[in-house]
Amino acid sequence: MPELPEVEGVVRELVPTVEGKTIERVKLSDTIFTSWGAGKQCIVKNMDPHLFEEVMQGMKINTITRRSKYIYFHIEKGEERYLFVNHLGMTGAWFVVKSLAEIGEEKFRKHVHAIFYLTTGELLVYSDIRRFGEMRFMTKIEEHPPLLQMAPEPFEDDACDYFLNKCELPKYQNKSIKEVIMDGQVISGCGNIYATESLFKMGIHPARKTNRISRKRKIELFEVIRAILLESIERGGSTISDYRNINGEAGSMQHRLKMYGKKNCPTCGTLTKSLVIGGRTSVFCPKCQH
Ligand SMILES: [Zn+2]
Repeated sequence: MPELPEVEGVVRELVPTVEGKTIERVKLSDTIFTSWGAGKQCIVKNMDPHLFEEVMQGMKINTITRRSKYIYFHIEKGEERYLFVNHLGMTGAWFVVKSLAEIGEEKFRKHVHAIFYLTTGELLVYSDIRRFGEMRFMTKIEEHPPLLQMAPEPFEDDACDYFLNKCELPKYQNKSIKEVIMDGQVISGCGNIYATESLFKMGIHPARKTNRISRKRKIELFEVIRAILLESIERGGSTISDYRNINGEAGSMQHRLKMYGKKNCPTCGTLTKSLVIGGRTSVFCPKCQH
């Protein structure tokens, strides 16, 4: 699943390629329409896909930004400004190509769900193999409250205090630290990969209760998370399963991971263990992490 660094990588490539361009028309996949017809919402949320195609026509893409794991396309038509928000889910990927044949890997080509035809003749393509991604057309951000409840960006000055304050709430105190740091309302953009790595680096057992960790250690943990996220951004993210940047390229952070998906601890050689915490598999070293 793409985490903050992977989404940041996508945004950094979309910005110079797509900003300032105008959407001539949009074509959504048959799967999206069929799902809507069957009363389900596949990828396009809270809007009839026919209407989505219609409202996106003629939209100019002003700027593209990242907020946590979401991509915000700030769009406008005439005087009116809107927001088109995308979450990549498990396997969402964007491509900018002249024709679909340019998308190198067949699995992405086979699962194209939205084509934004730009007036430049280019195609801005959204592909999603497992279809857990989301697209929302919004007039204002309040239309999707979860976007307002996200923790500050981890690189902002107040993010650490925000994390410490959240940890004090009864709701989080007795939860495992892994679950807490992966909660987007506590820390923005730290998913399973970087939570696993950070806890290993700190020698903290993923199931340890949050209130059993001192304030000092929590601050250190937060700094480790921030450093790992930054390092991963620099390396173009981790390519685990189906993440690709918009040129279909893979990042290289996966080669730096020490615990995520490992059979043996790189420090002591002990066989790693795994537990399901908050619905996600958590790998850890039973000797090094307490
Ligand atoms: Zn170990």
